[in-house]
Amino acid sequence: MRHRLIFFALFGLGALLAAAQPVGAQIFAHQLDDSGPPPGYAVLSLPEDGHYTGDRISFIILPPDSQAAQEQEVWLTLPGAVTPETAVFGGYGIGGSQRATFRWAWNTSALPPAKYPVTFQISPDGPAWRQWVTLRPASQLPTPIHAATWQSIAIDCCVVYFASGTASQRDLEDLLEIAEAQSQAAEARMQTTFSEPVSVVLLPRVLGHGGFATDKIYVSYLDRNYAGEAFAQVLHHEMIHVLDGRLGASLRPTMFIEGLAVYHSGGHFKPEPLLPRAAALLDLGWYIPLAHLADGFYLKQHEIGYLQAAALVEYMVARWGYPAFDIFYRNIVPVSGRTQAAAIDAALQIHFGTTLADLNRDFYAYLQANPATPEQTADVRLTVEFYDTVRRYQQALDPNAYFLSAWLLDIDSMQAENITADYLRHPRSTTNLALELLLANAEAALTRGEFAAAQAGIDAVNAVLQEIENGATAQGSLTTPLAGQSAGRRNPGAGTGRAPRRL
Ligand SMILES: [Zn+2]
Repeated sequence: MRHRLIFFALFGLGALLAAAQPVGAQIFAHQLDDSGPPPGYAVLSLPEDGHYTGDRISFIILPPDSQAAQEQEVWLTLPGAVTPETAVFGGYGIGGSQRATFRWAWNTSALPPAKYPVTFQISPDGPAWRQWVTLRPASQLPTPIHAATWQSIAIDCCVVYFASGTASQRDLEDLLEIAEAQSQAAEARMQTTFSEPVSVVLLPRVLGHGGFATDKIYVSYLDRNYAGEAFAQVLHHEMIHVLDGRLGASLRPTMFIEGLAVYHSGGHFKPEPLLPRAAALLDLGWYIPLAHLADGFYLKQHEIGYLQAAALVEYMVARWGYPAFDIFYRNIVPVSGRTQAAAIDAALQIHFGTTLADLNRDFYAYLQANPATPEQTADVRLTVEFYDTVRRYQQALDPNAYFLSAWLLDIDSMQAENITADYLRHPRSTTNLALELLLANAEAALTRGEFAAAQAGIDAVNAVLQEIENGATAQGSLTTPLAGQSAGRRNPGAGTGRAPRRL
């Protein structure tokens, strides 16, 4: 009873009303906690890098306990509103983590610069809190960002979208040439054609590993792509996905979708000999048994999974020929109540008279008999370490780019609403810039085969991230000599019209 009394004393009439019906913020705003979300909850607001008048602001609420939050409602009361907006916690993105999303909920275009209160309540009787959002004058944004609009251009293969004033617009001619060449290459590999032009959206920020596909293709293109400078390779990979999707099938298991895209692109983030590099996984003790890899593919170590899946496709094509592989792949059907591994196992028996366990044994034996060189093994080890570090960086300092929960928006909606900010703006603190430069440098060193330099860069980023994970502020974490040097060189591209991309 004592707890109940305290509860009423804290929340009073507002809480009683709130339990019964949504109410405006002003009714109980004076009783709300201003110290931010309660322990365990987190609120992300977008676009990133501060808020400015004219922004269409989105809010994402992350709960402390995914299980308990499922299906719970969140009320968001915006400044001046009487009735709250509502959203329900649900699984989001590839990772399916629980979050409540208010996309573009607050239109600030008619508001003057000021501090505004925004109220959140977990319905019906969960915690309620208020947060202040500072709107700065839009004139404080750099002009190209403030004035950016979506543009598009149609070429033979594609309709290419880009934001004005970005690196994509500057380099458009080259990018269009690359798009035509990659579409022809992808069509030749898949022995089919794009029956209608494919939409290619050039993203001015890193999202995930730099590319994703729905029925449209989204590829990062910017001067400092800390996930690697593999624009043509990534574009080709996503084009294979679109062609593969258009060819269709009853069940396309994820392991083969991604394996096929990497196989037909001749590599994941760069051209690479697939089978020898997969053999390196044996030396490293990183080989994943196929039945395990096939289930929950995206949650396995990313680069290992993709490399192994692509090498498996190459192995199967060498053993049975591409036409037979293609017929097998397009005729895998779901097995009721069973996983993708079971469906693959059943189809292997029908088409090739073998099982998934036997295929795994044969594939493993082949890799064992054809070992990688020490250089290939070193490169694979560093590639895995590099992308693990990219993802660790994203989770700590660029969370909306992290592939399992990336802030992916459809170009049609963005264009209809004339919104570019969500893709144009991303974290730009000194620490972000320093770590992104270190990552870009490490990737370039790895591409040149300079393993010691690549390792030093990766280690420097991880040392900083460790400091942050241990509780250091982002700014206070730049303690290693290399990271400090990187922070001091945050603008080596000044005067060139390009953002810094290399130390
Ligand atoms: Zn893919």
